[in-house]
Amino acid sequence: MDEKNTIVTPAESGQPAGNPPGASQPAGASQAPPRERRRKPRISETPPVPPPPPSLADYEPIIGKPQLDELHFLARSVRGKTVKMVNSTSMGGGVAEMLNRLIPLLNELEVLTKWDVITGGNDFFEVTKGFHNALHGGEYVLTKEAKEIFMMYNEQNRQRMQFVEDLFVIHDPQPAGLIRARERNRGRWIWRCHIDLSNPHPDVWGFLRPMIEEYDAAIFSSPQFARQLAIPQYLFYPCIDPLSEKNKELDEAYIQKVCDDFGIDRSRPIVTQISRFDRLKDPVGVIQAYQLAKKYVDCQLVLAGGGASDDPEGAVVLQEVMDAAGDDPDVVILNLPPWSALEINALQRASTIVVQKSLKEGFGLTVTEALWKGKPTIAGAVGGIPTRWTHNLTGWLAHPVRGCAYQIPYLLTHPNSLKSWARTAAST
Ligand code: UDP
Repeated sequence: MDEKNTIVTPAESGQPAGNPPGASQPAGASQAPPRERRRKPRISETPPVPPPPPSLADYEPIIGKPQLDELHFLARSVRGKTVKMVNSTSMGGGVAEMLNRLIPLLNELEVLTKWDVITGGNDFFEVTKGFHNALHGGEYVLTKEAKEIFMMYNEQNRQRMQFVEDLFVIHDPQPAGLIRARERNRGRWIWRCHIDLSNPHPDVWGFLRPMIEEYDAAIFSSPQFARQLAIPQYLFYPCIDPLSEKNKELDEAYIQKVCDDFGIDRSRPIVTQISRFDRLKDPVGVIQAYQLAKKYVDCQLVLAGGGASDDPEGAVVLQEVMDAAGDDPDVVILNLPPWSALEINALQRASTIVVQKSLKEGFGLTVTEALWKGKPTIAGAVGGIPTRWTHNLTGWLAHPVRGCAYQIPYLLTHPNSLKSWARTAAST
């Protein structure tokens, strides 16, 4: 690469121009315009028409016929039931990623599932992002105004939406207040929490908890996230879709083209982190680890991210990342639109090492995506990440920057370890 870090951005606004099938209008916060554009993105500036979703039968070669038969058998008892999923963004982040894939499959099983996305102004998403960080243990001053903003937008959405289904699955804290729509003897309500609640800010959790306890049950992504609650709690591990554009096999020629487009040199090691530009994903820590590692080994760093319409901090964090990267021509920063699944897939497949150096993590789908592709992975030992692997066998769990920085040169100079991790990852 002959220029300083590459910024590739989506459409000028940085915002998705539409919704995926099945989702209603995305929520409001906008992302700042790109600071610079060095290379013209070869990604559509508007969401392309998605390919038709796979049918359940397409998964048989992956999960086997007995699993598939069991699924059909279990679904018989709930056939014809109606479900409404509600979350706060139709694109960007792991929840939208999963709902996009799961809903067509539920419908194929005749569990009639709809997806609604709550709307809100910047003030709402600033409050909910503050809640998100605080529930992950961050500092936060919970004001009366923040509580009022939260309740006001939940009430607006409650009035706008219809609640006629048999089951309501409300994802994460942002729409938690919709429980006020509950009518006596009408439908079951589930709160599906995708974040790490093991050390929540007491004031924010104290505010949300009475709402959560009005639900019939809560679902968490890791046993450590369970709270003292007056309702039953269940454990569901999130999942990736092996047949999605994000995870399906790709032609070598396509992977090469994506790397060429983004100025990534495949003849040299590539270390990649794919994540929204969010401080809890620690992209600046990844740059620091890379800078330390670079003193010992040659490598490039790819930081590919994007925004989610319910995350107003993305543009600020992207700026911090740019500043930390400085003029290093081997740091490639990609600010991609949410419909870049194929490009993300190619970047993951082109990587020598995948990093997910999160400081807090609900589950970290990106780690599963990397393991699925057989990539040696270095990840923060946080949230749901350690549930998926054995340290030093499947990958490396690193806490501080130095742990990550140590492991990169080690792997790049020990090809046998690199290969053995790749093998274990692929079989995980
Ligand atoms: N992702 C993406 N584009 C990006 C950043 C992330 O498509 O620019 C995807 C990523 O591949 C994964 C999901 O968004 O499927 C992120 O889920 P994860 O659980 O890792 O983190 P979250 O963003 O939900 O905190």
